[in-house]
Amino acid sequence: MIENIDNLDGVLYKKNVNLKKYNTYKVKAKARHFFMPKDTDSFSSLLMAFKEKNIKYTILGGGSNILFLDDVVKTPIIYTGFFSRIGVVPNGIKVYSGLSIKETVKYAYKNSFGGLEFLYGLPGTVGGASYMNAKCYGHSISDFISKIGIIDETGEYRRINNDECEYSYKKSIFQNKDYTIIDIVFALKEGSRKEIKKLMKESFNDRKKKHQYKYPSAGCVFLNDYSTNTVAGSVIESLGLKGHSIGGAVVSSHHANFIVNKGGASGDDIYNLIKYVQTKVYEETGIKLLHEVRIIGEISGE
Ligand SMILES: Cc1cc2nc3c(=O)[nH]c(=O)nc-3n(C[C@H](O)[C@H](O)[C@H](O)COP(=O)(O)OP(=O)(O)OC[C@H]3O[C@@H](n4cnc5c(N)ncnc54)[C@H](O)[C@@H]3O)c2cc1C
Repeated sequence: MIENIDNLDGVLYKKNVNLKKYNTYKVKAKARHFFMPKDTDSFSSLLMAFKEKNIKYTILGGGSNILFLDDVVKTPIIYTGFFSRIGVVPNGIKVYSGLSIKETVKYAYKNSFGGLEFLYGLPGTVGGASYMNAKCYGHSISDFISKIGIIDETGEYRRINNDECEYSYKKSIFQNKDYTIIDIVFALKEGSRKEIKKLMKESFNDRKKKHQYKYPSAGCVFLNDYSTNTVAGSVIESLGLKGHSIGGAVVSSHHANFIVNKGGASGDDIYNLIKYVQTKVYEETGIKLLHEVRIIGEISGE
């Protein structure tokens, strides 16, 4: 099925790649086909080759908002690891989508650019965070994005402005349209490095204090619904679901909106616990919780 795609110029191809280090739930899974494009042109050729053959694929950044269900992931994985350049542009920085949030915020700090400190401690890549419109400490990443370089559905690379990204709470155009994020330009303000460092430390230490790094997870599983003031974690906690487990998957005792892998959880364990929480919450309160975590794989019976 992937003949002539596994040998494209500028694309590293590997078979049967262990995905454990590529997902923050640390579930055991293998990618049958794993592609790493090295530049924008080869990324575009790869996407077009899949489209021509009508083959679905998954783009993988830091794997901190992804749940692999199957032991063997049949959907080809395109990993953005080679897209890690970063540089200063007028009034900000330009970052390629595969660079980690951590390195991005550190680079901004080194160049005395403030604004992104609230993200320090957020796992994952800039591409994944821009796709998810990651939010924490009262800000969304989109508040600081000025432009995004994409490969569109025709394979063309072009720039779109923030107002074309349809950003709202944890939503973006990328979740609905066939756009692949290549680079991101952040509009930032120059500030005091001392102050920037202080804010970075505050964000990181707060996450540490809340035990966010103690067990493997993908952060919050469910979206809040601000139109009805529904905070998913509070609803789940009010039903006494903290500590509820299926296999190695457990509703965190520190934060009810986190499901953690306390050891040996499979993708199915985590998925079944997500379903259990959704059902319990619906039965008891009538609230339909939507998960923000992206599920990759075949869901049996659905
Ligand atoms: C401990 C912990 C705490 C967290 N706290 C928060 C938090 O406070 N707020 C928050 O919003 N999230 C939080 N998260 C979730 C996660 O870190 C963010 O959503 C992160 O931005 C995802 O980035 P990623 O690179 O890991 O994306 P991935 O998990 O790799 O991918 C997520 C989605 O983005 C798509 N994608 C990735 N890269 C691209 C690209 N270049 N082009 C197109 N699509 C792409 C993928 O296909 C997938 O659908 C937390 C996770 C953990 C583990």
